[in-house]
Amino acid sequence: RLSRQSDKELAKLDLSFEFFPPKTDKMEARFWETLDRLAPLSPRFVSVTYGAGGTTRGRTTRMVSQIEKQTGVKAAAHLTCVGASKDEVNDVVRGYKDAGISRIVALRGDPPEGVGQPFQPHPEGYRSAAELVAGIRTIGSFDISVACYPEKHPQSPDWYAEFENLKRKIDAGASRAITQMFFDNELYFRYVDRARNAGVEAPIVAGIQPIHNFKQIASFAGKCGSSIPSWIAERFEGLEDDPETHALVAAAVAAEQVTELVDRGVTEFHFYTMNRSPLVYALARLLGRRPEISRG
Ligand code: FAD
Repeated sequence: RLSRQSDKELAKLDLSFEFFPPKTDKMEARFWETLDRLAPLSPRFVSVTYGAGGTTRGRTTRMVSQIEKQTGVKAAAHLTCVGASKDEVNDVVRGYKDAGISRIVALRGDPPEGVGQPFQPHPEGYRSAAELVAGIRTIGSFDISVACYPEKHPQSPDWYAEFENLKRKIDAGASRAITQMFFDNELYFRYVDRARNAGVEAPIVAGIQPIHNFKQIASFAGKCGSSIPSWIAERFEGLEDDPETHALVAAAVAAEQVTELVDRGVTEFHFYTMNRSPLVYALARLLGRRPEISRG
């Protein structure tokens, strides 16, 4: 059921929205349309991803600096260290700094062969996100977010390694961890409990992936090691050619997820938008956010 909390109670929530850098003019038009719709909802920041192996480096920088200029909303640039030397990565960080970017989502990235493949650090590169965070810190006083994994990173041998790694990233200077997408809230709550028991004190922001397109999201989730409960898969069964019903089911599923989280005390959300606004806009509204409400 929907949250019964008042707008005033919900005003304490922090929302952020993740985008990917558009490749074509048509995609860029949709990027700005989506941003124009979501920016007035007072997000804490919006972020722009960094394509595998740095392929979007120029576009990420351009979009992030343009977002701040065009909308006044704070923007964060993602950055990965896979496949690059420290010098190359540091140059990107200095480029961010010169472009006036003050927020970074710092990640290791995945080898070009895919997520499950063993990670080989560049011989002169940062070997992990923790090392990357420390490197960024030497260049400027950025606000840094890092990634964490309610179902464990596929390469973490056990929970101990998962949290030791997360602690290293926070100790190196990250302010918060944003979770990989998850579809079963119990996984999130269990992860937060375990993290607190392991001595992680930083905020653990719930990463929410609305199911814009079940087939696409299921494939993406599988690659990231995020499971989709069978009851969710069943709700979408047979809706491939029925976009209207698919959209309504997706809204209901995501609404239930965020409502339960907020009613159980979660106050920080990061939405993976896939550069699309309708579902995320509706969810933000269910979380009390409206363009005209100032968050004072
Ligand atoms: P790390 O924190 O370095 O950890 C990865 C694994 O290595 C963990 O299992 C850890 O336990 C292990 N490990 C780390 N250090 C050591 C060590 N010293 N010894 C042994 N094991 C170690 N990818 C992109 O390409 N571009 C993006 O923009 C992007 N944005 C993302 C945003 C979010 C919010 C999330 C959750 C993920 C994002 N990713 C992105 C995906 C990310 O790059 C992958 O999940 C990647 O596999 C791991 O990155 P990490 O920063 O978590 O790595």
